Amino acid sequence: MLFAFFVDKKAFKQSANMTQKYGFTTTILHSDRQKTIEHGAPHKPVHTSVTWGYSDARQLAEVFQGKQSGYRYGRQGNPTVAALEDKVTKMEGGLASICFASGMAAIGALIQALLREGDHVVSSVFLFGNTASMWQTFGGQGGKVSMVDATDVANVEAALTPATRMVFVETIANPRTQVADLKRIGELCRARGILFVVDNTMTSPYLFQPKTVGAGLVVNSLTKSIGGHGNALGGALTDTGLFDWSSFPNIYDAYKRNPPVQWALAQIRAKSLRDFGASLGPEAAHHIAVGAETIALRMERSSASALAVARMLEADPRVAAVHYPGLESHPQYVLAGELFRSSSYLFSFELKPEIDCFDYLNRLKLAISGTHLGDNRTLVIAVAHTIFYEIGAERRAAMGIGESLIRVSIGIEDTTDLVEDFRQALQA
Ligand code: PLP
Repeated sequence: MLFAFFVDKKAFKQSANMTQKYGFTTTILHSDRQKTIEHGAPHKPVHTSVTWGYSDARQLAEVFQGKQSGYRYGRQGNPTVAALEDKVTKMEGGLASICFASGMAAIGALIQALLREGDHVVSSVFLFGNTASMWQTFGGQGGKVSMVDATDVANVEAALTPATRMVFVETIANPRTQVADLKRIGELCRARGILFVVDNTMTSPYLFQPKTVGAGLVVNSLTKSIGGHGNALGGALTDTGLFDWSSFPNIYDAYKRNPPVQWALAQIRAKSLRDFGASLGPEAAHHIAVGAETIALRMERSSASALAVARMLEADPRVAAVHYPGLESHPQYVLAGELFRSSSYLFSFELKPEIDCFDYLNRLKLAISGTHLGDNRTLVIAVAHTIFYEIGAERRAAMGIGESLIRVSIGIEDTTDLVEDFRQALQA
């Protein structure tokens, strides 16, 4: 019997068995019920309390000292958020996860909790604009960052120094869709004992698990396809259990009480959530958890539609270029096919110079001009004039972002409606 158990002490073992036994959607749909839920509810309820009372004051002290489990204060953890953390961990096949107020808060936690002055990071140059901006901030705080073309492991290897603490890449880069040389970078990091961090936002754990290429930490913006409905911000860091934290020099003694596999998340939860406070709220966690139940269905649909729209645009003489890893013309088409279940919902394209990109966007009837991704609704944006405006033309050029590049995040509308919308807008 699958759900004949509601016993907390067996939960970890049951959780591991379930992940091995059942498929992706079955596992996440039923993950909350593997631990005791109030009144047998299928969803973990929304707990809005920021504090928890203990009848024995000594028990509270033991919770603070990590000698027994329990909640201390809402900034560091909450039962509803913990249920989502468990779901994300299962999706990634990881060891444990921490949720944050947004994807950027999760990425910021890497700097906040794991890096120090003088440390060196090798990052893909092909990145979401705010992440690129964040590495600039780290540079201004005494860190060093080498931004390299991570579609070839040789560039990553050439940039490594004795001070390199982390290699950071996105799976499919937002917005130009370059695919990082994930497997070979993972092998390089493993051989050199360097932490490999993969931002899995564009693929999602349904299409790809970075653990399979040796990532030690995985970033997900939960705001995107995991939540899917565009109604809650959130982010997560998942420890895959693959990195040996005993070789990482930046862990404080206070977080070394348990076995090394737990050190990093203990430090991140304290240094980022407790001290910095970018915590995910329980209502947002609930929205995201409900959205996550249908991610497989949504990703199948939006990936198939993205391919159909990308193919239509590529075949049209008024379109100069389409960047989508699912197209044979994409430089990493073969690699993407090997690594990912499908090529996801994001592509970008450029029109021939005679068509103004803003006029084109204004002719779209279904697709919404808006700055978000992985939503049920199709979204479009001229990235050089918005998200990548601040970083300037020179850096945009280095990232492969043309001045008229249009980014498209395909939703779950009917495929034929989407193809028609993008086609009709070509007719000036
Ligand atoms: N990582 C990638 C690849 C993204 O595209 C984004 C946002 O678009 C983020 C991280 C940041 O996520 P959030 O908007 O939840 O802060």
